[in-house]
Amino acid sequence: MKLDILAFGAHPDDVEIGFGGTLIKHAAKGYKCGIVDLTAGEMGSNGTPEIRRQEALRAAEIMGMQLRDCLGLPDARLEINEESKRAVIEVIRKYRPHVVVGPFHADRHPDHLRASQLVREAAHLSGLRKYPAEGEAYRPAVVAQYFLAVHGEPSFIVDISEDYEKKIDALCAHESQFGLRKEADWQTLVNDPAFIRMIISRDQFVGSLIQVLYGEGIYLEDKMILNDLMSLRGRMPNLVMERIKGVVRQ
Ligand SMILES: [Zn+2]
Repeated sequence: MKLDILAFGAHPDDVEIGFGGTLIKHAAKGYKCGIVDLTAGEMGSNGTPEIRRQEALRAAEIMGMQLRDCLGLPDARLEINEESKRAVIEVIRKYRPHVVVGPFHADRHPDHLRASQLVREAAHLSGLRKYPAEGEAYRPAVVAQYFLAVHGEPSFIVDISEDYEKKIDALCAHESQFGLRKEADWQTLVNDPAFIRMIISRDQFVGSLIQVLYGEGIYLEDKMILNDLMSLRGRMPNLVMERIKGVVRQ
């Protein structure tokens, strides 16, 4: 199967946090989207790899994904080596996505940082005909980055207002991570209810930069080609203004 967008995360909830709304939006438009988790998140303080896999699959279903794979690379010890590069290259060659997405290159979490570099290197090497990995050489047209622990300056912002409820549903599917503190084995940053609120605050702030209710920032290292200026939007359409007024009134 060929995918339009393939998103990589270091941990089974990364993609939902930084890129979930964008994926939901594109899947709803009919684009084929998929997620590949590099690790099973086995070093997470709460949940087991089995529980996390079930939660990740549930989230992918909510988001309308065509697939969700897990490469089973070592959590908290993610490395950029021949083995990990080959694993990512083979996924890219298998699904041949137009857009590949990974975490932002300047994140503060070591796994996110390495996942970012790994995805960018693999996306390049995948196009080398003689590189020793399974599958036919293929280089994705676009390699983009989403934000997790560190928010940089986005290259553009996706309006995810219409898809926001589903993004929250997908996040809440990761119950072992974001569930109530009382049931958690260990108190972490993410299983404090404030964590989901922080994600919402960020999405609202990023949305406010383009005058919509919720947005996700996307970072591009490369210059992109745009042949149709009509797909660009620079200011709030009246329709959105009406919706915001409706929310404020409620
Ligand atoms: Zn993570």
